[in-house]
Amino acid sequence: MLIYFVVLKEIFAPLVDLIYPHNCLICHKFLSERSQNNPVCKACWEKIELNLPPFCLKCGRHVSEIESICKSCKKKEYKFKRCFSVANYTGVIRDLIHLFKYKNKTSLSKSLARLMVNFFQTYNLSRFKFDYLVALPLHTTRLREREYNQTELLTREMSKMLGLNLSLNNLKRIKHTTPQSALKEDLRIYNIMGAFALKNPDEFAQKNILLVDDLLTTGATCTEAAQVLNEACVNDIYVLTLAITP
Ligand SMILES: [Zn+2]
Ligand SMILES: [Zn+2]
Repeated sequence: MLIYFVVLKEIFAPLVDLIYPHNCLICHKFLSERSQNNPVCKACWEKIELNLPPFCLKCGRHVSEIESICKSCKKKEYKFKRCFSVANYTGVIRDLIHLFKYKNKTSLSKSLARLMVNFFQTYNLSRFKFDYLVALPLHTTRLREREYNQTELLTREMSKMLGLNLSLNNLKRIKHTTPQSALKEDLRIYNIMGAFALKNPDEFAQKNILLVDDLLTTGATCTEAAQVLNEACVNDIYVLTLAITP
């Protein structure tokens, strides 16, 4: 029964697109043909609140001219060198991440990756000479539930746009954890502990890695992944996320 449904969905999806033309995922306004490579209209897209410099030298949050490190980073230690984030987690980007992650709106992957690539180029992140882009992996149980890893889709597109190597199968998630968003800050570190492992540590030895994720909140997940990379003697680890919480 399920197989018939899948086949029918494959056959009729293009027809459904014809009958029900694409509308903006945010305001539902009809999208002209030319803008259909982005499922969000120009007016909504421009409402994305970009994260602007000066950036905290650790987490990447916007700081005042007189600070180099934000208040919360003064009492924190991360296992990666520095994080950069493209947008502030509010309004349109918050809604888009939700649609992308939980509502199967994978058509967003190109435009969101383009936003990350624009940031990468604007702030000249190529100066860090990355050997690999690495997407934060999902545990297989969660991958089965969701059917795709939204961060992997973003990273695949970024790798094509930037011409950088992609490593998808080395960093693995070996522990099925409670979603970090459901936990308070002090519990997140314990929840994520031991969640990652490397299949082939030698692949990353002496390499510069850019870890990619959709959202940075406390940094606990990226720190735990970075810890595993450090054990493989990587050179430098940086993090790039699509959004960062205030
Ligand atoms: Zn719109
Ligand atoms: Zn900070």
